[in-house]
Amino acid sequence: SALRAEGEPRKKRRFSTPGKQLSNGSPSSPIQMQRANLPIATGKNALIEEIRRNDVSILIGETGSGKTTQVPQYLLESGLAGHGMIAVTQPRKVAATSLAARVATEQNVSVGTLVGYSVRFDEASSDETRIKYVTDGMLVRELLGDPLLSRYSVVIVDEAHERTLRTDLLITNLKDIQRKRNAPSDVKGKGSAAKLNPLKIVIMSATLDADKFSKFFDDAKIVYVKGRQHPVTIYHTAVSQPDYVDAAMRTFFQIHTDQPPGDVLIFLPGQEDIEGLERSIQLYADRLPKDVQSILVCPMYAALPPGQQAKIFTPAPAGFRKCILATNIAETSITIPGTKYVIDTGKCKEKRYVARDTGTGFDTLLTRDITKSSAMQRAGRAGREGPGYCFRLYPEEAFDAMAESAEPEIRRCALTSSMLQLRCLGQDIEELDFMDKPDREAIGAALKTLYLLGALDSKRCLTKLGRDMAAFPLEPNLARAVVASREFGCTLEVIGIVSVLSASSKLFFDSTDEREAAAEARRKFRHRSGDHMTILNVVRAYQEIAAAEKKSGRKEWCRKQFLNDRCLAEAQDIRDQLREVCTRMQIDWKTSCGEDEQPVLKCLVRGLVQHAAFLQPDGSYKQLMGPSIVKIHPSSSLCDKKVPVIIYDELVYTTHIYARGVSTVPRSYIAEVPVLNVKGT
Ligand code: ADP
Ligand code: MG
Repeated sequence: SALRAEGEPRKKRRFSTPGKQLSNGSPSSPIQMQRANLPIATGKNALIEEIRRNDVSILIGETGSGKTTQVPQYLLESGLAGHGMIAVTQPRKVAATSLAARVATEQNVSVGTLVGYSVRFDEASSDETRIKYVTDGMLVRELLGDPLLSRYSVVIVDEAHERTLRTDLLITNLKDIQRKRNAPSDVKGKGSAAKLNPLKIVIMSATLDADKFSKFFDDAKIVYVKGRQHPVTIYHTAVSQPDYVDAAMRTFFQIHTDQPPGDVLIFLPGQEDIEGLERSIQLYADRLPKDVQSILVCPMYAALPPGQQAKIFTPAPAGFRKCILATNIAETSITIPGTKYVIDTGKCKEKRYVARDTGTGFDTLLTRDITKSSAMQRAGRAGREGPGYCFRLYPEEAFDAMAESAEPEIRRCALTSSMLQLRCLGQDIEELDFMDKPDREAIGAALKTLYLLGALDSKRCLTKLGRDMAAFPLEPNLARAVVASREFGCTLEVIGIVSVLSASSKLFFDSTDEREAAAEARRKFRHRSGDHMTILNVVRAYQEIAAAEKKSGRKEWCRKQFLNDRCLAEAQDIRDQLREVCTRMQIDWKTSCGEDEQPVLKCLVRGLVQHAAFLQPDGSYKQLMGPSIVKIHPSSSLCDKKVPVIIYDELVYTTHIYARGVSTVPRSYIAEVPVLNVKGT
């Protein structure tokens, strides 16, 4: 339809809750009683009145008070949204999908009908949808097809304190859109008869520098919701705990054996640590004496499949203690009922543009110490239903040394992808009204990257190629490879590889107890050119299995091959979405180069040109563009080979700088890249 954003994946309707048999609608049903008992419900009418009166409202309230689930329903039920939709943005995909599921249940409907969601590579919405939980990135993407967001009458920017790059971009655009849509009719009527529907903006957070947001929106009204918080007793360790995963496990079992019932929430930086700890807790739990309570371990992280998310909200069965292992997703975005004990490792993962890499414009995820604000939020999670306990796995001095709050992403992340989107909107990042201005250096790096990818010309103007790239919900370098596949006749293959690279988990497990067997299994898929064609071999084999086997058969096959079935299943969804974008762009996704790997590698070089490195006499590799000397990561199929030229997906910083996801390519492919070929450059 005309309203569809350019490059936005098509609607995929997914109904994860059964529709008809629900009976949550009646006011006396348990779920409606829960709603009525939330702290926010007390001030419901006053809150609706404030929002009705003001174009922009800033709403601050303790985590769990009911902001995210209730405010959109209040606005809908009070008619404040008129005929338009209500968008609620979330920085994280899992939060958007699980909150949509919850609110759909409260409204007694299936997800994808009245209440829906839209996140990268997944959407559940329809013409009926009035409340839509979206990631901030998806709403920025919608701007490309609907620059005034005219379908929405209210945009709620939730978790605004996280200050993600997309949230900041959105806030900047919302301010401008509101100025246009809410201008008196004699001003906006000039030249066009079209009447624009006004836009309401609500900024929400549990912990926010409210004044800064208020100032940005011309002294917008700040509204506070009273929360209910019980006292939390905080303990620190005497010394720091370098092995925080092990420390978390020991602390958990101490609580489990010594403390009265109550669920435990453990904060860890990322998926790998969560999976590691899950295994060790399970292992010890199986050996506990019979008279001790049983343990139910529930992981929660960004890449967790929606089917497993519901488990964390369900109360533990009698005789069980629930142990939730979560990333900072459980800090403020979602509230897990039943938590009495919190174990805080003091670590999180943070996206950061690595200074050593200046000039290349890509981010790395680094494990870092959390901020004071995070530490206090984490502790707060223990005191929602009664007095609680928080065990910090770091000394008090470490807490004192923490930064107050995190630096906004716009000051520390690569701007490449955002800059491309802004260019498609005809906007110049250097001239926009941001809450915090981006760094000049980061802007320079993004410009350089987009120029090298051919998205901008030497006058910094958007090219046709750049516009085509922006249509794909992919990082610009991967989008470049897909667009190049049209020229080289290998779209089928490139999309197969790019889908796996865009999945949220890795295809190969880094660690396994059966090293030999895993290596043996992997050898079958190995391609002499390296990891990208190896991925393609796996994708091809998986497709044969997927055509012949049901879900359980596919899982079993993956297990035997030591492959991550979650990654492959997600990659298939992504692949389908990319094929749809191709069809809309009149790129024939069925075009295949058969067994010839050369066209595929040429496409990858177009996207990864900044990630090329040349062999040095000592066996290491020197970046073509950039100062670093890199080694091939031990997980690569090329790790013990010496090849003249490599391209790679990413750098990993540990004791050395490692290139991960590596292929070898002929030197001539690099020289053929058009921008490197222009005389005088
Ligand atoms: P806030 O946005 O103010 O932090 P929320 O609206 O997210 O608060 O949460 C309100 C209440 O809804 C909390 O008590 C939380 O436990 C409950 N809740 C949220 N999602 C779910 C879910 N998927 N299942 C059960 N309860 C949920
Ligand atoms: Mg919330």
